[in-house]
Amino acid sequence: MRLLIVEDERRLALSLAKGLTAEGFAVDVVHDGTEGLHRASEGAYDLIVLDIMLPGMNGYRVCGALRAAGDDVPILMLTAKDGEYDEAEGLDTGADDYLTKPFSYVVLVARVRALLRRRGRTASPVLTVGGLSVDTAARRVTVDGAEATLTTKEFAVLEQLALRAGEVVSKSEILEHVWDFAYDGDPNIVEVYISALRRKLGAKTIGTVRGAGYRLVGDRA
Ligand code: CA
Repeated sequence: MRLLIVEDERRLALSLAKGLTAEGFAVDVVHDGTEGLHRASEGAYDLIVLDIMLPGMNGYRVCGALRAAGDDVPILMLTAKDGEYDEAEGLDTGADDYLTKPFSYVVLVARVRALLRRRGRTASPVLTVGGLSVDTAARRVTVDGAEATLTTKEFAVLEQLALRAGEVVSKSEILEHVWDFAYDGDPNIVEVYISALRRKLGAKTIGTVRGAGYRLVGDRA
């Protein structure tokens, strides 16, 4: 899952990015509203964390512009505690949720995950494909009931495949959602992670569709 953080308090933005990266998200950070709108409009983001008081263009306007353009990306707004900015107004402009500063990091992560789940196709955080079970809330994976230990990045790659189980997911789609904007390395990095997942989950769990991408099958045999 790939997130965009639009926040001009650099220390806050960087600590959020660091924490969310450790959780397995790909995270891009920008510090002003104009750049935020630009990046959000062209990026493949699964969610945007959007501050309200921003240089360039405030968060309400960024949110309003995205919605006016038909973009339904989940938006979590960060509001100041002084009451100067109204939560109701944030929701009016199309934000999905808001958090009042200062907030606990744990609460932010929980809200982010809840919004991502709400947007998903199923109400359940557990995706089941054959003998494979991917719990996107608890970040646990089991194969035929036995727990598999994955790195955060491996989990993020598997999650992309599980969200679209049975469909072909291209290498570039996986790259877009799992690696951040700063990654300019070899796109074949995806193959490295697919190999690692096959090693841990069973060789035939993930099929290769030549020239198109990968498909999660879920069967080990
Ligand atoms: Ca601010």
